[in-house]
Amino acid sequence: MIKQFVPQEACLKCQGCCRFAKADSVWSPCLLDEEIQELLDKEIPPAYISADRRILPIADPQGEGFICAFLNAGENKCRIYAFRPFECQLYPFLINLRGQKVILTVDLNCPYVKDKLKTEAFKEYTEYLASFLNSPEQIRILKDNPQLLQAYEAVTDLVELDMIHEDKKIIP
Ligand code: SF4
Ligand code: SF4
Repeated sequence: MIKQFVPQEACLKCQGCCRFAKADSVWSPCLLDEEIQELLDKEIPPAYISADRRILPIADPQGEGFICAFLNAGENKCRIYAFRPFECQLYPFLINLRGQKVILTVDLNCPYVKDKLKTEAFKEYTEYLASFLNSPEQIRILKDNPQLLQAYEAVTDLVELDMIHEDKKIIP
């Protein structure tokens, strides 16, 4: 599990996550191959996983857009919180592919992180996260799961990660 920056209490009072404008949104969590296997082992319906290895959002029964298939919208809680995917643990931070560069970015649409952006705690967390993502084990995981390298728009750059992207493969 990735150490968290945003406290769980803040998220429980917010509806910023787990909801999407489109069913094929780039913001819907992409899954590691081992996470897909873990979900299937837990007898999660395969229909919840898209062909491009994302959680496939479902139409929001209470609104217009789409919600994650694992969101309990009434309680605003993740049904698989204890084993939620890597990308869900990472958010509001995102690994962003920009040309040949892999950049750690943050989404300032998250009100908690936007409020804390100038703090020492944010700086320290960013250093921790960059160091964690630059570890040999995490580089291996990303190398084995290039589907996680995506281009997100309107995010804020924090630091370039120690990876070289070349022909859809990460080379440590
Ligand atoms: S937008 Fe930020 S505070 Fe809101 S649920 Fe997501 S991570 Fe939590
Ligand atoms: S798996 Fe959980 S945390 Fe991730 S998008 Fe779905 S409901 Fe949200």
